[in-house]
Amino acid sequence: MDTTPTRRQRIFEMLMESQYWPPAIMLEYQRSQLAQLLRHARANVPFYKTRLDPVFKSNGEIDWDRWHEIPIVTRADLRDRRHEMLAAEMPPGHGPAKDFSTSGSSGVPITIATTAIASAAGRAAHERFDRHHALDVVKCRAAFDFPFEFKDWKLLLRNRRQDPIAGMIRGQGTNQIKISVTAKETEKLAALRWGNASVLSSLPNDIEIIARKNLSLPRHHRVRLDSILCFGQGATEEQRKLFLASFGAKAIEIYSSKEAGFMGFQCAEGDRFHVNSELVLLEVINGQRPCAPGKVGRVVVTPLYSTAQPLIRYEQGDMATPGTTCTCSIRLPVLSKIDGRQDPILKLPGRLATEMLVNKDLLTNVLEALALQVAQVSELRFEIRYVARRAVTPGKKGVITRHLRSVLHPRLHVDYRKVSEIPRNAGGKQQRFVREFSL
Ligand SMILES: [Zn+2]
Repeated sequence: MDTTPTRRQRIFEMLMESQYWPPAIMLEYQRSQLAQLLRHARANVPFYKTRLDPVFKSNGEIDWDRWHEIPIVTRADLRDRRHEMLAAEMPPGHGPAKDFSTSGSSGVPITIATTAIASAAGRAAHERFDRHHALDVVKCRAAFDFPFEFKDWKLLLRNRRQDPIAGMIRGQGTNQIKISVTAKETEKLAALRWGNASVLSSLPNDIEIIARKNLSLPRHHRVRLDSILCFGQGATEEQRKLFLASFGAKAIEIYSSKEAGFMGFQCAEGDRFHVNSELVLLEVINGQRPCAPGKVGRVVVTPLYSTAQPLIRYEQGDMATPGTTCTCSIRLPVLSKIDGRQDPILKLPGRLATEMLVNKDLLTNVLEALALQVAQVSELRFEIRYVARRAVTPGKKGVITRHLRSVLHPRLHVDYRKVSEIPRNAGGKQQRFVREFSL
């Protein structure tokens, strides 16, 4: 039997120790990783050819005191200069690279290349997260997903008789189930009950909708869960209370993005977040300088394993408040709060829905959009605001309108408005989805 530990296991073993490292040791580790990334980017990535000059001394050493002079990479850079950002070659053992597309919460569509080593590190960090929260890996985990994502799964289609719930699949040889986001609320609850799920992962808004349904059932019919893992956006205080009342479940937030991977997680002892410093350098800045604890600032990230398309000081688009220390024994940096990660719940005639139903890639591709915003103006009226080189043709509008009608409501009216810039909300953020009337 081959007993060689896999790369993921080796990283996991390091993470279980490094979470207790004193900050000075972690800094030293991060700098050794960053130095390799900077040298790689400067040599192999046209975008960084001169951009990193401020930190390189004439003798080739790195001047960490000038780190803040490295210009911030924006989402528009990723959209418009992607080819310059791809590495001509990768360090040994990092590949292969894989592309991900995302429209993100700001509605600017991008494609990002990540590495095999980054995914292994991400999985290892999730394993550490499971241990920290004592999540039972034997019990069933459920997640909502778009049906077209199912193609990557080894489906147990022939076991349909054993998986009697519409829109539900069980991963082969795993204890995980995926439930279609397009399934009805009662079907989603039935799938959770059938699978005897203990953990549910999704956008908090999606979970809010079925949590409301579950709470409306007689007590002995309600689904019970141990934990809710909140991805993609923060959970509001009301949502946390609702999940507890409805499922008896604790909500745990995960801080991650397609661009930077698994950046942080909520601590088991309270609302604070810990940063996965072994995977990413996460800065919170105000102007050019680091934010003091308790002050809110912009999140700027440098994922350490992103060698296929290095992101050195990338503006993540979120705001956060650095904390000091935690009551738990982990010594990873603390964020006391992360903001700017809320999407609205959509209100349709007779039901609530979320943006998860909408195929964002379809909208982006059909509109050839540089940026877009989907605004719900009234229950049956949507407006698509988009930035593009040319206006969308009537035929292409038809494609999008048909998709939105099929997933949201058959009588939906959709307007299209080409704009020079996506409007900003009161907080200055350009949101991908907005609802312009109250629930
Ligand atoms: Zn903690």
